[in-house]
Amino acid sequence: MRCEVCGKETNKLYPVLIEGVEMMVCEECKKFGKLIEKKKKAAPIKKVKKIVPYSKDVFQNMDKDLVPGWGEKIKAARELKKWSREQLGSKVGEKTNTIAKIENEELRPPDDTVKKLEKALGIQLFQKIEDAVIKKKKARNLTLGDLLKKDV
Ligand SMILES: [Zn+2]
Repeated sequence: MRCEVCGKETNKLYPVLIEGVEMMVCEECKKFGKLIEKKKKAAPIKKVKKIVPYSKDVFQNMDKDLVPGWGEKIKAARELKKWSREQLGSKVGEKTNTIAKIENEELRPPDDTVKKLEKALGIQLFQKIEDAVIKKKKARNLTLGDLLKKDV
């Protein structure tokens, strides 16, 4: 490499601005101009952290959300079919006692049991994750933006 000012052979050149012209110069000649600050290494592109709504993140790692009042809903659907807790229990493979607890929401049934209950009773117990997220989001922090969106 050769200095563009004095022509000296050097293995290190500095980019400087001399009278408005960018030149590669040697150690000695750099005093004639203004050193152009150049980052030695291109800054690594920062990984843009995706802003995932908090609640969505949580729901992804959770069981599906049950509809509000699911216990009551199960009970109502069962009574509509005129089934005893025992009858419903035998249909979904749960003990009568378990059905009672589920109806009282003392026990959150596992997802596969919920599916069986949905099928046996012909009701929907899982709510869409999106719905749950939107509800939680609105409850969490209503911003002006959210309020505006609501009107759209
Ligand atoms: Zn030079």
